[in-house]
Amino acid sequence: MKFRYFGWLLLASALVLLACDRDKEPAAPQNAPVETAEKPAPTLNLPPDIGPPPSFDGERAMQYTKDIVKYGSRPLGSANHKKVEDYISGHLKGDQVEDDVFTAETPAGKFPVHNIVAKYPGTKDGIIIVASHYDTNYPLKDTNYVGANDGASSSALLLELAHQLRGKPLDGYSVWLVWDDAEEAMKPESEMPFMDDSLYGIAHLAEKWQADGTLQRVKAFLLADMIGDADLNIDRDTNSTQWLENVVYEAATRMGYQSHFFGRNNQVSDDHLPFVKRGVPCADLIDFDYGYNNVFWHTPQDTVDKLSPNSLKIVGSVILETTRLLSKMEPLPPK
Ligand SMILES: [Zn+2]
Repeated sequence: MKFRYFGWLLLASALVLLACDRDKEPAAPQNAPVETAEKPAPTLNLPPDIGPPPSFDGERAMQYTKDIVKYGSRPLGSANHKKVEDYISGHLKGDQVEDDVFTAETPAGKFPVHNIVAKYPGTKDGIIIVASHYDTNYPLKDTNYVGANDGASSSALLLELAHQLRGKPLDGYSVWLVWDDAEEAMKPESEMPFMDDSLYGIAHLAEKWQADGTLQRVKAFLLADMIGDADLNIDRDTNSTQWLENVVYEAATRMGYQSHFFGRNNQVSDDHLPFVKRGVPCADLIDFDYGYNNVFWHTPQDTVDKLSPNSLKIVGSVILETTRLLSKMEPLPPK
């Protein structure tokens, strides 16, 4: 991760131009409010009441985060990476799992890539995907970088989601959890743009599912990234689908968590882009303000002491509530 341009809600565009030169995407609208960046979002057919809120164990998700971090740095091709693959798979015993294994050709050479997909069937035709990458940044492999927030927290969150989803058919769409691999860049961004050297795993899945027709059944793609920060502020990503982000915000509001969501706009290049490109409604839930000025991101300071079980609970619950809302919305807005 990630090449990003910041669009602050409360600052004038001129200030943004001055402040964020490095992160600017030249073709992007400067600080355009979401409302004017694209056509107005369709009205949502929201159900009035969908019963008691979902449960999500933030403490257990935190324990999973610590377990993953204990393996150390987990760059592509490493022994630690293999241990984390086995750790994730080991928690999915008895579930319906699709292993998507292939060799990626990267600027740093050829590497094995392993996407892990766990499928929880629902009563309704259609799929909601919830994704997180689990690898750590390759150029940082020889530091003591462990990616507690960037990769471990969201991968742990998915493991806890599995607890809440397994056991009986879901009352609504199927939910597929995707631990995608080789998301991080293989070369430093100074040598190669992020978008030319990243997202190897998720791009492979999107292509494969387009070819076999699966993609047509996908109603929504929800991405979790850097969601463990104790100071939780999820950005509103302007590369995501506006109406789906509105459903996420509705879920957060119904649970009283709205103050943690969408305080600022941000244009994020992340794992969702291969699905955005193929017309799948996407929402990237990311807090790209990790420490003052995002100072802990991609540094050895990205450690578990910066995270909180409550942040994991907030994001996990909101994701579950979003899947429940989507399942009751008839019809969903057109793709
Ligand atoms: Zn990263």
